[in-house]
Amino acid sequence: MLQLSRDSDWSGVHVVVAGIGVSGFAAADALLSLGARVSVVDAKAENERAAVLENLGATVRLGDAETLPADADVVVTSPGWRPDAPLLTAATAAGIEVWGEVELAWRLRPSVGAAPWLAITGTNGKTTTVRMLTSMLNAAGLRAVAAGNVGTPLLEVVMATGYDVIAVELSSFQLHWSSSIRAHSAAILNIAPDHVDWHGNLDSYARAKGRIYTGAQVACVYNAADERTAQLVRDAEVTDGARAIGFTLGAPGPAQLGVIEDLLVDRAFTDTGERADPAAAVELASVADVVPLAPHNVANALAAAALARAYGVPAAAIREGLRTFRPDAHRIAEVAVLDEVRWVDDSKATNPHAASASLRAYDCVVWIAGGLAKGAVFDDLVAEAAPRLRGAVLIGADRAEIAAALAAHAPDVPVVEISRTDAGAMETVVAAAAKLARPGDTVLLAPACASMDMFANYGERGDRFAAAVLART
Ligand code: ADP
Repeated sequence: MLQLSRDSDWSGVHVVVAGIGVSGFAAADALLSLGARVSVVDAKAENERAAVLENLGATVRLGDAETLPADADVVVTSPGWRPDAPLLTAATAAGIEVWGEVELAWRLRPSVGAAPWLAITGTNGKTTTVRMLTSMLNAAGLRAVAAGNVGTPLLEVVMATGYDVIAVELSSFQLHWSSSIRAHSAAILNIAPDHVDWHGNLDSYARAKGRIYTGAQVACVYNAADERTAQLVRDAEVTDGARAIGFTLGAPGPAQLGVIEDLLVDRAFTDTGERADPAAAVELASVADVVPLAPHNVANALAAAALARAYGVPAAAIREGLRTFRPDAHRIAEVAVLDEVRWVDDSKATNPHAASASLRAYDCVVWIAGGLAKGAVFDDLVAEAAPRLRGAVLIGADRAEIAAALAAHAPDVPVVEISRTDAGAMETVVAAAAKLARPGDTVLLAPACASMDMFANYGERGDRFAAAVLART
């Protein structure tokens, strides 16, 4: 493995930056400032950032993203590139290291006084958990920032000074291309099939996520209800003395955080002085402090609390952090209550695992679902949700797949299929849902699918939904 870090002499090092997007540009810029020889390549023949990089001294090659430039020492890949892109496979075949943006950011930390990383991955809940964690750290008076897939770009954060600790969201793609990261503490929230096309199969997807634990110094946080995450801790090579810490929605065992009656309780970090008491438990917060209150968000809060406690955050700051936390948009956001029907936007539920968690939060639901299935299977989701479904309104390219699952596992649930595929179809969707809903019900947009067949992204899908709902007031 190359021993390159911020303090190395980069002058003889030829770095190929693959893809000139936002992160590729930032990577090239940082590497040039360290004195590296930088080549940037991009498949597109035009790129607005290319001229700037050329001025800064990079060699730019546009229109050919397949050929590996000669005498490359290392390749830095953009997050959008698939691992089987010809340039990346050529590099791997030639024994040339490939780094993702996160690996580069780790290596470019200052050699003295770098802020430790509290790292989070998982199929669902990453952004929410990272934001909860940041809120807890801030409540403890720490200068903390959310970075990675969320918030400020990681490279920018590590190049800046003045942070005590960084809450880092890591995707499986970023972890795939990371090898030397050593987190203070790390958490995997859950693992369900997603992005399997990118990783090849579920096992390599899980293995990529498992890398987050490698070398962890204080705590490896796993989900006690998800055996895959527990196994990844057992498989990990951690720093001596690092502990496995579980979180559970049930009563916590020793070395776990969990729920007792209506309280979030810590039975892992209870050492208040001379002697650790294995029976001790510390009250962290009330379940009601979790907003929006849904079982999966309680799980996210416990995972965030586990990392915060591993970093030494006092119990009072956990409660305060949860109370000041504000979720990002389109994550079980209540849009309105009209005629005793609650309308909820969870457009960010872009896979069955997320939609399933979301549906579990409500007793009687009119479910709006559909879009691009990305190869997902809906049988388990529908079978579990069936008793709580008042009806379903289906949209998008792959709606027939959800319709088939409903016909098989919930034959009595009324289903309305909307064939319009323009973005304005949301008005028709909302009208159909309003007809199905009865007082006390929740209408939930939790599509279990990606949005790009009808909308620019999940944000636009949620905004259109909210606008159509509010138009009825
Ligand atoms: P990510 O950053 O991993 O996409 P988010 O925090 O943005 O996660 O949440 C995305 C969606 O996943 C939410 O809208 C919700 O439907 C679902 N979700 C959130 N937390 C969990 C969890 N712990 N388990 C399952 N689903 C979850």
